[in-house]
Amino acid sequence: MLTQLDRPALEQLLDKLAVEYRLKVPKQLADGTRQLAPYRDGAISLSGAVLHRKPTTYFFPQIERLLTIDTSGTVSVPVQAEKPLALFGLNRADLAGVTFLDRFFLAAPVDDAYLRNRSGALLIGLTGAAGPDNSFLPLSVGDCDIEMIAIRGGWMALGHSVAGERLLLDFPDGDPERMVALRKFSESNSGHQDLLQKASQLLTDDKVPDQFWVEIADRCILCSGCNLACPTCNCFGMQDRTSENGTERSRVWDSYQLDAFMREASGHNPLGTEALRTRRRIHHKLVADVERWGELGCVACGRCDRACPTGIGMMAVAEELVKRYGEIK
Ligand code: SF4
Ligand code: SF4
Repeated sequence: MLTQLDRPALEQLLDKLAVEYRLKVPKQLADGTRQLAPYRDGAISLSGAVLHRKPTTYFFPQIERLLTIDTSGTVSVPVQAEKPLALFGLNRADLAGVTFLDRFFLAAPVDDAYLRNRSGALLIGLTGAAGPDNSFLPLSVGDCDIEMIAIRGGWMALGHSVAGERLLLDFPDGDPERMVALRKFSESNSGHQDLLQKASQLLTDDKVPDQFWVEIADRCILCSGCNLACPTCNCFGMQDRTSENGTERSRVWDSYQLDAFMREASGHNPLGTEALRTRRRIHHKLVADVERWGELGCVACGRCDRACPTGIGMMAVAEELVKRYGEIK
């Protein structure tokens, strides 16, 4: 379904969403960054930089209580929120990040905590002229319920799911020819995917010597920012906290840049050097995920490159790797 919305129609849609969902929309903070915030909590930001905080946080939070055991031994688990979430304003990479985590956590056996957060949630993409200074953001691959494509004076709105189509029923039809032109334009912007594919191939073909990882790892200060910022990272550890009221079990994000990440009780550590852990960070997303899921585990959101204080985020490493061992000069 293709419809067209102007600003009052967008407000109408958002008001409607806010009745049924816990709606989060992009908001510009005082420091110029953007992040999702509750609807009507300040002005909505309809174009600009990538959302600072990865939206997958809503479904896989940094710390999440899984269960509580009280002093009588009774176990309780968190209950599902009354209204599902609706996240508005996700770009193509962020939608791909949610799709990646869905595949990981919802594959059998399903992760019930993730399912509880994700169940019934609505994703609304924001693409087209919605980047910084209204620059063009590539269209999604349809992995959202509604896609709002910013155009001059409004948005083309595509319903990609039954829930999305239902919400768009009241709005006037969009122009299909214009949609074809937008798709063509979007397809001509492949972004960083070519670079990542080349780096992936070099790693798969074992063209990258161990010394490369020693050099890259030498620059890592083990802050773990790359993993914490990444929308497709899904490693976590378990944490039990006991108080006079009982014990609370939570899961907490982990980072494979850290020494203890794979250290075994015996003291043996299969990823015992920074070089091995750095290789793992890149190799996992560019090779292991491809073998397992048929797709790169990096959605090219750029967050790790912005987070890394020493310039060895995914794109920087991929570029270096292709420059040194590939065809590109
Ligand atoms: S660019 Fe970095 S943060 Fe973004 S998906 Fe790829 S590895 Fe993760
Ligand atoms: S963000 Fe950079 S410095 Fe920090 S752990 Fe990751 S690679 Fe190392």
